[in-house]
Amino acid sequence: MSADVEHWNPDMELLGREDLEALQLERLRKTLQRCTSSPFYQAWFRSADFDPRKVGSLADMSNLPCMDKDTLRDGDPTRFLTVPLDDIVRMHSSSGTTGQATVTFHTAADIEAWAELVARCMYMTGVRRTDVFQNMMGYGLFTGGLGFHYAAERIGAMVIPAGSGNSRRQIQLMRDFHTTVVHIIPSYALYLLEVFGELGLDPRTGTDLRIAFIGAEPHTEALRQRIEETYGVDAYNSYGLTEMCGPGVAFECPAKQGMHVWEDSFLVEVLDPVTLELVEEGEEGELVFTTLNREGMPLLRYRTHDLASVHPGECSCGRVHRRISRIKGRSDDMFIIKGVNVFPMQVERVLLEALGVGSNYRIVLDTVGSMDEMRVLVEVAGELWRGEVRELNRLRRKITEELRQEVLVTPLVELVEPGSLPAGEGKAVRVVDKREHARGD
Ligand code: AMP
Ligand code: ZN
Repeated sequence: MSADVEHWNPDMELLGREDLEALQLERLRKTLQRCTSSPFYQAWFRSADFDPRKVGSLADMSNLPCMDKDTLRDGDPTRFLTVPLDDIVRMHSSSGTTGQATVTFHTAADIEAWAELVARCMYMTGVRRTDVFQNMMGYGLFTGGLGFHYAAERIGAMVIPAGSGNSRRQIQLMRDFHTTVVHIIPSYALYLLEVFGELGLDPRTGTDLRIAFIGAEPHTEALRQRIEETYGVDAYNSYGLTEMCGPGVAFECPAKQGMHVWEDSFLVEVLDPVTLELVEEGEEGELVFTTLNREGMPLLRYRTHDLASVHPGECSCGRVHRRISRIKGRSDDMFIIKGVNVFPMQVERVLLEALGVGSNYRIVLDTVGSMDEMRVLVEVAGELWRGEVRELNRLRRKITEELRQEVLVTPLVELVEPGSLPAGEGKAVRVVDKREHARGD
């Protein structure tokens, strides 16, 4: 890759609109060709009466139905593969547990292309080989860890693969090794500030930090500014999802006026989540992506359920890759807490198993101090409620543990009197989100 002073990959970053769209079409056709060898796509094309060889423009893709997480979950994930399983070198999985997880398979070329994309993002914001990069994201199935790790090494920065948690040690590492760049979940950045305070330290004077990448969960502009002011850094929004690769799908440039979607690698559509028609340019809708540079497991018209809009006009940085707004919310009921995706159905399933009957429940998300907290209020049957306190406590502990195993976050479970939660009329409001910083505007 030949970098100039500001661009990691000037050939791709500085493409004009026409050339970019020509490249997209060429890559789309190649992708469709690949898909014809996957058992899933063979059936998918057939049932939609869609002939991939007849795609002559990007707009022709609107003749193919969209897919989403449910499509991925519905059966053996290897049926999406367009290469023999032996060519796969890595898998990742979206947060959530076995029942809910979706799997993404990568070939060596996919891993290479992904690292290139994230390197492009990091370099764009000013990361160089002289930097020390502390990656405070979970390593493992979650893509935030390894996705940035390989990219930073590619740039030649020194990586501290700190992983998530262990706050005091994180601060110690930052100070001992003069960390200049961090990758951190925004709600955790808030919490870490408290730990700095407990240690009598101010991150602005007590560290060498200059850049923070914040992502993996919705957050407000106000939270970004707070992180920038309190840490003395430039904070850049990073958007991605496991199914597309992970981080590296869309990223802010120094202009901080929306996130550039790397359109050489992804075809982006913004659709009305109900009608699945394209919304007017600049209107909010659901992001739908098609991979253009994925070998092992290409995804076509994948519904993210993330709501955002495309910023009109061109960016002052000169890149024509379209910019999306912050993620404004979801078109389904998934929520993200401490970087982990949770569906209310997962909670419901655990409650159903533990209590043997469906019961009214409510999930309340709140910020206590600077920590996000998930409370689960569950109505218990009259005889249990009137029974022994010891029994209720045992049940509460059991539900807490089972929920922890299912959603990977430890909730505060409260058993409440039957009839005390508002009864749902029609679609019950299961989740009440009181967290200020988690609203994406
Ligand atoms: P995962 O596949 O587990 O990494 O989760 C991907 C989901 O995390 C996306 O579909 C979004 O809902 C959310 N997400 C990732 N990055 C951001 C971001 N920068 N802002 C808001 N939500 C995000
Ligand atoms: Zn820009």
